[in-house]
Amino acid sequence: MTEQAATSRLGTVSEATVVVAGGGPAGMMLGLMLARAGIDVVVLEKHSDFLRDFRGDTIHPSTLELIEELQLTEKFAKIPYNPVRTTPAGSLEELNIKYPYVAMAPQWDFLDMLADEGRCYPHFHLLMDTEVTDTIREQRRIAGVRYRDRHGQERELRAALTVAADGRHSTLRAASGLPAREYGVPVDVLWFRLSKSESDPQQGIALARVSPGRWIVGIDRRTYWQVAYFVRKGGYAAVQAAGIEAFRQSIRDTAPELVEQAGELKSFDNVSVLDVRVNRAPRWHLPGLLLIGDAAHAMSPLGGVGINLAIQDAVATANILYPALLRAQRTGTPVPEKLLHDVQRRRELPTRVIQSLQRAAQQRLIDPVLRGAEFKVPPLVGVLRRIPQLRRRALRTFALGIRQEHVRTPRVETATEPVLGGQGAPRRNPA
Ligand SMILES: Cc1cc2nc3c(=O)[nH]c(=O)nc-3n(C[C@H](O)[C@H](O)[C@H](O)COP(=O)(O)OP(=O)(O)OC[C@H]3O[C@@H](n4cnc5c(N)ncnc54)[C@H](O)[C@@H]3O)c2cc1C
Repeated sequence: MTEQAATSRLGTVSEATVVVAGGGPAGMMLGLMLARAGIDVVVLEKHSDFLRDFRGDTIHPSTLELIEELQLTEKFAKIPYNPVRTTPAGSLEELNIKYPYVAMAPQWDFLDMLADEGRCYPHFHLLMDTEVTDTIREQRRIAGVRYRDRHGQERELRAALTVAADGRHSTLRAASGLPAREYGVPVDVLWFRLSKSESDPQQGIALARVSPGRWIVGIDRRTYWQVAYFVRKGGYAAVQAAGIEAFRQSIRDTAPELVEQAGELKSFDNVSVLDVRVNRAPRWHLPGLLLIGDAAHAMSPLGGVGINLAIQDAVATANILYPALLRAQRTGTPVPEKLLHDVQRRRELPTRVIQSLQRAAQQRLIDPVLRGAEFKVPPLVGVLRRIPQLRRRALRTFALGIRQEHVRTPRVETATEPVLGGQGAPRRNPA
């Protein structure tokens, strides 16, 4: 047992090779891959569990392939998910790929699976209910983080590399002074649950309803619909001013399947407003610090690809950095900043392309509808439907992304029964 692991069992880690802020898809995947390669890693997550409504549910074919490469297919099969095979342009079955579907899986189950697997490796430490508050700067390097533990104690954790995977409101990005360029987003999302009735369709994102002024998507979470109701940026105040009955009626008018369930919204207390952002940091690193996932580039919900992009960032980070991290762990050699730049260089192109597509869709599809226009199927969809070669290329990009990443890190520790490194996320059954 390493010294760090010993301290982490007391829940007060003070040193590690890598500290990751944020236990979302990017942070958990990176933590698992590094621990599997024998690198001492501590993931700090500010929430006490992964059970939060406002996590997306889409696991794309590229991530399903990674799950297989990490030998997690059997564990993943135990998660209740709906496979979605069709897109507006065509079916993923047309592609010659191993997993021709998007698995709509509750994200907390997916993150629990990564945490459970991580706990099989002695180098993996996950501290829940632990909020990163600042960086430690020493000799022009980021030398770790300050954090508040679950008892409210302020602490420090030193590391050869600090990774900011703390999402679109990244504390570490702000603390490090790395700027992000904001791309205006014309929409916000109102997010609430409605129950599912027996007659509701049973398949994945089965509910997408649009009428002039309204855009509603329902994610099937088996026992209930998680509903995303798009409003124009800052438009929630007007929705509230019109009153809860007007809001319920607008749901009934747009999505007839929800006529009865709309009445379940007793007040706006049942509705959360999610601030949608699209931004990108021009620079993702400083000596000793790397930003990945939404902390480097906040993604819009459109296309449901942000999770997979965050995971691809994590895999590229582990692949590129693990030899230097092993060296840092054994000899104390700092991780060269050039390697951190290599991660940005590899992942920036896919991010730029996908963000451009998301911004175009927001501006050309959703914004006009929210301003009161009729929805029109974009001409590109018609073109894709007519030209099979082009369609397959577009479907492939949607399924596997650009510059698909594969697991290249070794598995140096043999997975055993879960070890007690750090506090685990309490397991809860969400449904
Ligand atoms: C309304 C909405 C719906 C979306 N729906 C989808 C979808 O269906 N499919 C999809 O692919 N993408 C979706 N996205 C985008 C997607 O959520 C993100 O791109 C993706 O979650 C990024 O993963 P991440 O790991 O980088 O960050 P996050 O998922 O945001 O995870 C960051 C983690 O860090 C933790 N954290 C934050 N601050 C701290 C701190 N100071 N200390 C410790 N921990 C901290 C958070 O609790 C969180 O667990 C949606 C986005 C929005 C806004």
